[in-house]
Amino acid sequence: MIKIVLASNNNHKVKEFERILGNTNIELIPQRKLGIPEIPETGLTFLENSILKARNASLLANMPAIADDSGIEVDALSGRPGIYSARYAGENCNDSANNQLLLKELSGTPYKERTARYRCVIVYLESYDHPTPKIFDASWEGLIGTKEIGNNGFGYDPLFYVPEHSCTAAELSEKQKNAISHRGKALKEFQKKFIA
Ligand code: IMP
Repeated sequence: MIKIVLASNNNHKVKEFERILGNTNIELIPQRKLGIPEIPETGLTFLENSILKARNASLLANMPAIADDSGIEVDALSGRPGIYSARYAGENCNDSANNQLLLKELSGTPYKERTARYRCVIVYLESYDHPTPKIFDASWEGLIGTKEIGNNGFGYDPLFYVPEHSCTAAELSEKQKNAISHRGKALKEFQKKFIA
């Protein structure tokens, strides 16, 4: 087994990672279990923030680290909230506040202009000072609905309409979401390269 610290304290993300990388030769250790706190995301790109998170976790845990920086880009908002997705409605806000703000900003926007995508950039660092982080990124296209529907998933999932399933991401099962999501696709690429 290869031990890797997972640089996230987001329980939903941790669960998705554990499901997707379950039954492999990787033992994922969520950083919270090692007492590692989240660090400020001071980068201006998903990639910078993902590297910052992986480097911090690898340094403090003294083991290889994997990090995910992700978010949603809404075309009618010129790509916002993007890297600020977690704190769209303010520092320490919750998912519901973010979703309400998104609905407010898009009120009056016709359906065909409500296109959006989730993005995920996964970084794997063998050690905190390794010069070549391995990078895996993926996106997931959808539309922003006009009300929250569904109880699964997290974050913007109740508003993220998935055309191929004719429902929101929050109505998909874990298995359905992980098969097509930004995180699922990026982690499959990681898996192909690194996992037995
Ligand atoms: P991060 O922890 O800084 O990468 O922020 C990720 C944020 O993007 C989350 O807090 C959510 O608001 C949003 N997000 C990323 N991935 C997903 C997803 O799979 N479903 C719903 N929201 C997501």
